[in-house]
Amino acid sequence: MRFDVITLFPELIAPYLQHGVNRRASAAGVEVHFWNPRDFADGAYRRIDDRPFGGGPGMVMLAEPLARCADAIRLARGEEVGPFRSAHAARAPLVFFTPAGAPLRHAMVAEFAQSQQGAILLCGRYEGVDQRFVDAYVDQQISLGDFVLSGGEVAAAAFLDAVLRLQPEVLHAADSHAQDSFNPAISGLLDCPHYTRPEVWRTQPVPEVLLSGDHARIAAWRRQQSLQLSARHRPDLLKRAHEAGALSAAEVK
Ligand code: SAM
Repeated sequence: MRFDVITLFPELIAPYLQHGVNRRASAAGVEVHFWNPRDFADGAYRRIDDRPFGGGPGMVMLAEPLARCADAIRLARGEEVGPFRSAHAARAPLVFFTPAGAPLRHAMVAEFAQSQQGAILLCGRYEGVDQRFVDAYVDQQISLGDFVLSGGEVAAAAFLDAVLRLQPEVLHAADSHAQDSFNPAISGLLDCPHYTRPEVWRTQPVPEVLLSGDHARIAAWRRQQSLQLSARHRPDLLKRAHEAGALSAAEVK
């Protein structure tokens, strides 16, 4: 699987992928390449932005260097070059991180993790990207949430982290992520709380059930905690699980 990241600041993302479980991604067969649109810009100053038509603050990223960069990436990937993915269905999607995108969720991450195509990831900067490039080249728009970042690099790093940790061999226990929050194995709910040594920390004991060695009781307690946490913090997840028929009759009551 291969990801190509278009960014003016590759140094913001690359180190993040070299630490923790992410560093095992290349051993798991995932390649991440960085491309700077400045390398595809004209002139001595290699300009990649200009003032917005209509006036207003800030700068806008130019369409042409981004298009040249995207075409070079397609070539390097051995894919057909040019805009409009609909004409090249076998190509990897070009994803633009933007507040206007669909919020990033587990289901989307899992889909990317399973597809062998990978993706081309575009990180915007300044006021954003000339809309004509977005219209012609972008296949999918993803938002990290309802807030504005200075650039798409944090969004790309978050996306890559979430996708990479789902690759076999990246986590120590290959299927441990199945018990994480939002996973279908726990009905898309929040994960239960976790405890470790000592058994009593500053007067607070570990819940007795976790020391019992009774696996059925522990599983039932964890499920109950997951339901309670979701009801308190994310009732929308509980509602979705109910609608999807992922809750037992007893849990619905
Ligand atoms: N003018 C834009 C707006 O109000 O929607 C914000 C531009 S922002 C300062 C610069 C870049 O950061 C965007 O082009 C996008 O790539 C990235 N970005 C900002 N917020 C984001 C978010 N919530 N999710 C994903 N990317 C984001």
